[in-house]
Amino acid sequence: MSTTAVIPSLSLTTVKRPAAVCSLNPNTSSSSASSPAFNLPRLIRNAPVFASPAVASTAVESMDAIQALQSRFSKFKEDLYVKKPELFKELAEGQSPEFMVFACADSRVCPSHVLGFQPGEAFTIRNIANMVPAWDPTRYSGVGAAIEYAVIHLKVKSILVIGHSRCGGIKGLMSLPDDYSTSTAFIEDWVKICLPARERVKEAHAHLPFAEQCTECEKVAVDVSLENLLTYPFVKDGIQNKTLSILGGYYDFVSGNFESWTPKTN
Ligand SMILES: [Zn+2]
Repeated sequence: MSTTAVIPSLSLTTVKRPAAVCSLNPNTSSSSASSPAFNLPRLIRNAPVFASPAVASTAVESMDAIQALQSRFSKFKEDLYVKKPELFKELAEGQSPEFMVFACADSRVCPSHVLGFQPGEAFTIRNIANMVPAWDPTRYSGVGAAIEYAVIHLKVKSILVIGHSRCGGIKGLMSLPDDYSTSTAFIEDWVKICLPARERVKEAHAHLPFAEQCTECEKVAVDVSLENLLTYPFVKDGIQNKTLSILGGYYDFVSGNFESWTPKTN
């Protein structure tokens, strides 16, 4: 697959960002290294790549889950829906969000919580490691359809790609073997979208410990996604016509910081 964004007449140079201060959970000991009872995918053997080590728990009973959902919705309705009838009346007629947001599916980084987006404000796509693939009508059509809809039909004003600290998807990307072989059905092939970020980090930061390389890659991968956005003709047109901007962001939930940047287009 193509992993390098080709940008015919528009390229990006990102502004210098301050160094990140977070690091990955060092709980990666494999000294006991007992053999798994069966062949687990490489990425979750011994030292989980995509998640923190967790004790297996039983599934929530369906009725309990339904009751919990009803209770959560009741609270939302009480706290927001009934208090803003004009907003929801307007939203019933349509949406006109200012932002399109790409965020990781990670349960800790919901952009509506972190950035306070209210209903109707952000057309949001969440996937593994908040990645935007380069234009390719034969693959990733779900992402392409979302961008097309947001830009051409909703006419969003900005597309924001938000990376985050301790991203399991980025750790998976950085953990790929040098031959890029995979052991998962979908995950690793997906995160290869940002292989250029991995290569840039490994070249520029080879001296850093792995965890810090991952932190760097969490940000560089955002830059790669911003570059990939420019391979969509309607995105490039929007930027050139100044009806659309693209922004990078990084949420560090370890230090409680959020940084954002505007790539320089030329
Ligand atoms: Zn993530």
